[in-house]
Amino acid sequence: MFSPEAFALAEGLVSSAYVSQGSQACARRGKLLTTLLSERRLPRAGWDDKSIEALIAELAAMDSNNFLDNVGVGEREARVHSRLVARRHYHLAHGVGRSGDVAAEQPKAAGSSLIVKLTNLLVADALKIAGMADAGPALVLPLATGMTLTLTLLAIKKFRPATARKVVWLRLDQKTCVKAVLSAGYELIVVEPRIVVGDQLETDVDAVERAVVETCGGAANVACVVTSTSGFAPRACDDVVAVAKACARLDVGHVINNAYGVQSKARSMYTLVPAWRRGRVDAVVQSTDKNFMVPVGGAVVTSGRENTRVVEEVRKAYPGRASIAPVLDLFITLLGMGEDGWRKLLDDRDVVYAYMKRKLAEVAAEEGERLLETPANPISIGFSLESLARGLGEDVDGTKISFFGSMLFSRCVSGTRVVAPGVRQTIGGVTFDGWGASCSAYPAGPYFTAAAAIGTTTEDVDRFCAKLKSAFKDFRKKHSRKRGGGGGAEEEVSEEVAKLNVAAA
Ligand SMILES: *Cc1c(COP(=O)(O)O)cnc(C)c1O
Repeated sequence: MFSPEAFALAEGLVSSAYVSQGSQACARRGKLLTTLLSERRLPRAGWDDKSIEALIAELAAMDSNNFLDNVGVGEREARVHSRLVARRHYHLAHGVGRSGDVAAEQPKAAGSSLIVKLTNLLVADALKIAGMADAGPALVLPLATGMTLTLTLLAIKKFRPATARKVVWLRLDQKTCVKAVLSAGYELIVVEPRIVVGDQLETDVDAVERAVVETCGGAANVACVVTSTSGFAPRACDDVVAVAKACARLDVGHVINNAYGVQSKARSMYTLVPAWRRGRVDAVVQSTDKNFMVPVGGAVVTSGRENTRVVEEVRKAYPGRASIAPVLDLFITLLGMGEDGWRKLLDDRDVVYAYMKRKLAEVAAEEGERLLETPANPISIGFSLESLARGLGEDVDGTKISFFGSMLFSRCVSGTRVVAPGVRQTIGGVTFDGWGASCSAYPAGPYFTAAAAIGTTTEDVDRFCAKLKSAFKDFRKKHSRKRGGGGGAEEEVSEEVAKLNVAAA
């Protein structure tokens, strides 16, 4: 707001020495902005909140709804009834994009348009820092991972023959993955993983080729193969390099679900690079909340630098305008983190993963259990519940053992997932045996998973381990009491929760 003229006039009211000091402080903030606009990447050090808010206020002032003398007579003029809502959005209300392109400039909103452009650039830089070299442009969409996968699968249609109605999917038991394919109107062809090392479920590249050539009857019937780099143990990060090479050879598309893989430099991110250098990758989709610590609501779609047409098509095919909210959350977060903060979060996560693994192995040993051996899953850890299940004797079924999950839940542990063998699940007409384990005949007994995801602290791990031990103790106690006679009301409630959990899994 302060022009040089305004500063000069202010000197008529307040001592010029003080005004001059104040103007220098403003100039420093201004320098942050010019550096951001000229370098177009994450600031080295994160910005303070005041600078971020000052910038957003100026950007909002560049949108027509905030002009002092604007008269809007269209049907969509960023009219916001509630002042609370306006404030929650920093008075940015035009959304992003135009009907022809979700990343296009919005004529009524120069400020919002600038936020979108900058956020896409900042995200691309964050991905690069996390190990994603030679990537093409990144596109942030106000849709979570599943919907972004659906849009991507729809966009790929343009580049495939009209007969390509099938998607070959490397099984990963998350309902969203199945629904993303079915909602895009494809037939789902499931490829089961195989066990090579320890308890780990790995990519069966030969089975992918067979699925394309034999099951689907050739590449012309296949839109793409969908692989995943992050998922629940015992599932490993897919061998995306081998699949990318196979897709290049077979001439089929390849979409990578990198949901929370960004936070795993060593595994997911570094394998993406040889995948698109040596093979075929059409698009990579990652969640904004799981990787960048923002509220749920967005995803980023990108690809290798040499093959950006699918990402472009997603941008152009997006029908209508989109919400700016997830973009703004990311803009604020990335400016606040800066490069140093982002690197530290990534490094800290590696440390916490190792810590969680060590601590859980200790608890497992005390409880007569073990950690599942899954060296190619750098985030999720599997913890066996075999001896606990044996303790149930004849009673081993999904409901009984998932009672353990609800005991953790009632101790305010969230995010663990108990998997019992033999669950049959139908999603959109497709039936899966052994649902939860990403494999129809997983040989190990029941287990639960926990994740060392970005933002998890060693204190979280310590508190989790304490609650876990107490859950083991109480589970055994309650179970032995129940065998001797009736269970209490608390158990009945927990069993109801357990049943709901099984139904929801
Ligand atoms: C979280 C996740 C999804 C679903 O993501 P949404 O953001 O909820 O749509 C899909 N696939 C995998 C592997 C995930 O981890």
